[in-house]
Amino acid sequence: MEQSGKKNPSKGLLQSEELYQYILETSVYPREPEPLKELRDITATHPKAVMATAPDAGQLMDMLLKLINAKKTIEIGVFTGYSLLLTALSIPDDGKITAIDVDRQAYEMGLPVIRKAGVEHKINFIESQALPVLDKLLEDKGNEGSFDFAYVDADRPSFPGYHERLLKLLKVGGVIMYDNTLWGGTVALPDPSLAPQGRKSCWKDCIEFNKILAADTRIEISQAPLGDGVTICRRLY
Ligand code: SAH
Ligand code: CA
Repeated sequence: MEQSGKKNPSKGLLQSEELYQYILETSVYPREPEPLKELRDITATHPKAVMATAPDAGQLMDMLLKLINAKKTIEIGVFTGYSLLLTALSIPDDGKITAIDVDRQAYEMGLPVIRKAGVEHKINFIESQALPVLDKLLEDKGNEGSFDFAYVDADRPSFPGYHERLLKLLKVGGVIMYDNTLWGGTVALPDPSLAPQGRKSCWKDCIEFNKILAADTRIEISQAPLGDGVTICRRLY
């Protein structure tokens, strides 16, 4: 079942769907590693497939991981594992990913592909709410300032709470990437009642969080309109 090349209108924020497809088909899909394609096809059968990280945002994430030589990373929101497998393929063989999700079943859907790709040994999957795991990590002083990279893709209302904890866990110069920060483009609407049904919830959380990031002097940021909008943050001090 080859679904990789099909249109995926829900993920494009660009004004023209054709331009988004052009980007995917010209620069993203042809360079997407085979295991990621396979995982994307398996995920397409999941009723919530739309939640998976957009391949164009994934390509940027892969680039960032390599530019900063990320070795120790953390991921909040695994789902079937597209961004997790991507990270596992990007970091070195002795790299480690702490991956947190409340849904082990979704993770297990992608696990055979992760195993086949030979990268399962880099992953520590923790089935849990994310906040208590971050607090637990912070109880060990050795974890402070030790992570190179964090990817946050779950539970919008908790983003400010994740942010404070991750800034402690991240080393200076480390990077946090937040997904869905443009919330289908609805963050520009004057009122959530104008947003499509699925975008009414968390609309306010997204807007508030974007303001928090913009005002946070501890980081540099870049808001990239890829996928559903990603914000890249670099810890300054
Ligand atoms: N990064 C994934 C997509 C994540 S979708 C990919 O590339 O495919 C969001 C995920 O967050 C879901 O799997 C959901 O189970 C998980 N989630 C929601 N609330 C959570 C919480 N409080 N703590 C941890 N995981 C949570
Ligand atoms: Ca997402």
